[in-house]
Amino acid sequence: MEFFDTHSHYNDEKFDTDRNKIIEETYQNGITKFTCCGYNIESSQKAFLLAKQYEYIYAICGISPQEAPKQIEEIPSMVKQIEQILKTDEKKKVVAVGEIGLDYYWGKENQEIQKKLWKEQIQLANQFKLPIVIHTRDAIMDTLQILKHQEVIQKGIIHCCSFNRELVKEALKLGYYISFAGTITFKNAKNAEEIVNMVPLEKLLIETDSPYLAPEPKRGTRNNSMNVKYIAEKIAVFRKMQLEEIANITYENAKRIFQIQ
Ligand SMILES: [Zn+2]
Repeated sequence: MEFFDTHSHYNDEKFDTDRNKIIEETYQNGITKFTCCGYNIESSQKAFLLAKQYEYIYAICGISPQEAPKQIEEIPSMVKQIEQILKTDEKKKVVAVGEIGLDYYWGKENQEIQKKLWKEQIQLANQFKLPIVIHTRDAIMDTLQILKHQEVIQKGIIHCCSFNRELVKEALKLGYYISFAGTITFKNAKNAEEIVNMVPLEKLLIETDSPYLAPEPKRGTRNNSMNVKYIAEKIAVFRKMQLEEIANITYENAKRIFQIQ
């Protein structure tokens, strides 16, 4: 059985002591493809390096809303640096622009800056015909507003999707994929089952968001992509399907959205 973890951060400093060891162990444990996702310029460059180093790792590059600059004028030069990475990507190992979006939990005062940063990166994704990986927290209305009015050619993924009916319903209508993380395994995730069952199988993805959000029964530990199995297992239970079916379906879905041959 093989799994595709669509979202992890092996570029995080929490992996500085044993990064290569854990990456290789991940692959040997059946997680035969995974992405490394950037959130600012430095982490995007690191993700790109890992993708060049390991055939089975793909990079996602972009600037997250938490990393938005103080001044709106700084946005173009930041986005240019992400563009620079994409321009040198001869082997097409960068498979999406992300994680990008809106986060009003961590940033209430800079909403206009966040929106502009996101929109400029949507344009960048369009320029390179890449999908986007969306981070949205406490900003569902504005997120949907932008997705409805901004052209996103290759669509994308709602990463670590929260259990909000409106978000899932509207994102699906717009053609987005829905990616579930360890939060669906948490005991306090009340309507997780209902939300997971809202997603058509062909739009379903799984992710760990390592090193954060370790699923049950590993909650509280440093997460890694091997734990993506617990997320697939939970979905299999919710949907009354076999684990292997969920593994295969989400694997093929990830290859399709990331345009991997
Ligand atoms: Zn993330």
